[in-house]
Amino acid sequence: MFELNNILRENIKNLKPYSSARDEFQGEASVYLDANENAFGSPLEQNYNRYPDPMQYAVKTRLSEIKGVPPRNIFLGNGSDEAIDILFRSFCNPGVDNVILVPPTYGMYEVSANINDVETRKVNLTNEYQLNLEGIAEAIDKNTKLIFICSPNNPTGNSIHREDIETLLTNFNGLVVVDEAYINFSRQKTFIQELTEYANLVVLQTLSKAWGLAALRVGMAFASEEIIEVMNKVKPPYNVNEASQQLALQALQNVEQVNQWIKETLTERDQLVLNLKAFDFVLDIYPSDANFILVKTTDAKGVYNYLVSHGIIVRDRSKVELCDGALRITVGTPAENKTLLNTLKEYKA
Ligand SMILES: *Cc1c(COP(=O)(O)O)cnc(C)c1O
Repeated sequence: MFELNNILRENIKNLKPYSSARDEFQGEASVYLDANENAFGSPLEQNYNRYPDPMQYAVKTRLSEIKGVPPRNIFLGNGSDEAIDILFRSFCNPGVDNVILVPPTYGMYEVSANINDVETRKVNLTNEYQLNLEGIAEAIDKNTKLIFICSPNNPTGNSIHREDIETLLTNFNGLVVVDEAYINFSRQKTFIQELTEYANLVVLQTLSKAWGLAALRVGMAFASEEIIEVMNKVKPPYNVNEASQQLALQALQNVEQVNQWIKETLTERDQLVLNLKAFDFVLDIYPSDANFILVKTTDAKGVYNYLVSHGIIVRDRSKVELCDGALRITVGTPAENKTLLNTLKEYKA
């Protein structure tokens, strides 16, 4: 049976969180002399002299309308990378606990684990880039706290079979973290509707990809109220700055624009795949559920360097597990994709 108290670190269980001025007094007043801010204003057109809302209530309320999840089940971070780090700090005892990673996958899980001195147990995906459930079951022990599943997966682009993730959710007594950074591009259903079903589910999403706000650093975690409370306790009090909160809120009114871009991206992606397949240095392109494709080539380094010399940067993933010869290419605008294809026409192995 999953029991949150069994996996929570003892020091976090007993932690008395920092109480900020904004926490102690909530409501409207006319004179704020409680936070040592500059009362005159900011040397800018807009004032940023007041600390932001530590719980980002306005942004969460809007997200709640879009996602159909109550604000109390939403955590906001300085990018979803911050949410990843907070999961380690909340649940993994350094030098004692371990987490399961399923390479090839997003690199920050391992970096965050290393920063926190937490052992990573790697169970490679299968040749079809799906979960090796038996391998994962063997790797789990009593100190395994988290399993990170990225779906659609970065860098392979495919979605992980839903039933396999459900198997983990049902059988694992730690947290299953499903990273849905690319879910807006996917035909697969999100897991955020399953929070009531699985007490050990954490879903990560972000405004950095489809929403076009990578520079603002706003990431989300969706989980049970109990898990969100822990994460809020551990996070820095003002982890999402006021400019980002205001701009995120504004952007979240523009769902239609974003949906339009997603459609265009998918059309462009399919076009790009068709065109790339015609090149003889392209061996294979994996089916993608995201805004990028993983392209297996005869000479990743050669193609990469050639593109760099023409001012086009893609990601060389050829040194990553199960990604021999592979380049990861983000879908650009129609003009950018055309430039890429025209440039590749001149490539000589
Ligand atoms: C880009 C990416 C993120 C990072 O999101 P931020 O919100 O920008 O920190 C998280 N997970 C995956 C799989 C990504 O590709």
